[in-house]
Parts: sequence; structure tokens; C-alpha cells
Amino acid sequence: MLVRNCYTLFMANILLVNLLKKSQAILVFTGAGISTSSGIPDYRGPQGVWKTSDPVYYQDFVHSEASRIEYWEQKLEAWPCIRDAQPTATHRAIAALEDAQKVHMVVTQNIDGLHEKAGTSSTRLIEVHGTNLKVECLNCHTMSEPDEHFAAFAKTHSAPLCENCGGLLKPATISFGQSLREEDILMASKATNEADLVISLGSTLSVQPAATIPLAAAKRGVPYVIINRGATDHDGESCLTMRLDVDINEVFPAAVNEALGE
Ligand SMILES: [Zn+2]
Repeated sequence: MLVRNCYTLFMANILLVNLLKKSQAILVFTGAGISTSSGIPDYRGPQGVWKTSDPVYYQDFVHSEASRIEYWEQKLEAWPCIRDAQPTATHRAIAALEDAQKVHMVVTQNIDGLHEKAGTSSTRLIEVHGTNLKVECLNCHTMSEPDEHFAAFAKTHSAPLCENCGGLLKPATISFGQSLREEDILMASKATNEADLVISLGSTLSVQPAATIPLAAAKRGVPYVIINRGATDHDGESCLTMRLDVDINEVFPAAVNEALGE
């Protein structure tokens, strides 16, 4: 069901509320489209970060100090915006579903940390592409807060090193050329087997392997709802229950409120 006009949106909303009411183990999958009204630039939009600076590949980061400095420069420039960004009504609605014990797992492609800021528990959150709200040592995997490292980098312009082991420090996002974390894939795969509803919000579902996660659950026969402004790669899938081509913040938080009886 591709919904654009008001009458069918009304019907779709009833169906969405009913699905939310019935479900007790929702797999929520999110992409950049849920963060565009939070002040975070859409990475794929015309002014997206990928269009305005070349990405630093993981192998270059590991092997070249010049690449590390370039990477830290890019992250330093983006940091105030990421640090200050606030969750949208949709992030908060997902946290409210969790409070009502309806969320099995939130799997996000976003690296903005906004699910965490909205109150989604770390045990129910898989950030498949990592997060900008932490810095990770590539050697001992210790996580630390970014502020101190950005302050140091802004002064010295040399790439920060781990206090514990001297390893390379990097904002804890998955770079181009870097594999997803194995434990994340295992957890997400487990979640696809246990979900009773899959909702994809604000993703074009075009980035692999992340986009296979909601589809794997849907192919088990679990109802699959996609809400995204613009086309997605799963629009032609026969396992799709409902497809809403609308502004997520105008539809999803209200449907959650109604389902939770608020
Ligand atoms: Zn270390």
C-alpha cells in the first residue's frame, strides 16, 4: 500500500495503530530520514557530508598519519553539530514503545547517537554503523568520551592515541572499508528471528548488509511496515504489509501515542 492521499493515510493509520497495539516484540530499523529534523545533516542529501568532503577509508586511517589527521579534522568540524543535536519526536516515540515493553530491538544505521539521547536502552540498541558519541581504541577497544580528544586534537593537530595502550583512537563509527562488528550482526540476526513486527523508518534500505536485517524478519512472515519519504529498495517486496511515503514525524509519533492510549 503506497499512501500519499489523505483518505488512505487515514486508513493506513488505523492499520498501523492496530499493528502497534498487537505487537510485543517490535524490530525497529532506522535510517538517516528520522534524524533530518534534529540538525544532523542527511549523509545522502545534496548537502550531505559525503558530497562535501572525501571519506577517509579505514585502511588509510590505519596506515597513514596524514589520513588520520584528515579524518579527525572532518570529525572535529562535525562534532559541535553532533554533540548538540536533539532527538526528534520519532526517536522519543520509539523510546515510549520500549517503556511500554513493546520493543524487541532497535537497529539503526545512524551514527548520531540520538536513540541513546531519546532514552532507548543500550541493551535494546544496535548501532550497526557505530556511533559518533564515543571514541574507540582500535587496539584495546576501550571507549571514551569524545570531548577531551577533540579538545586535544584542536590544539596539537596530531591524531590522538590511547592512554592505556598507545593504540590508535578513532570516533567509534564504522568507516568505509571497515567491517561491521560481528557481535552486532549476531545480535541483529537473533532479533530478526524473535520479532513479531518490523518497522523501517527513514531508510532507503539501499545500504548493505544493514538493509537485509528488516527483510530477513519480514521473510519469516512477520508484518513489515516501511515509512519513508521517497523510494526504498524494498518497495517491490511481496512481504511488505504497508508502505507509507510520508513525513515520519507527522505520522509515527501520533500512531504510537494512540496505540499506547496516551
Ligand atoms: Zn587502547
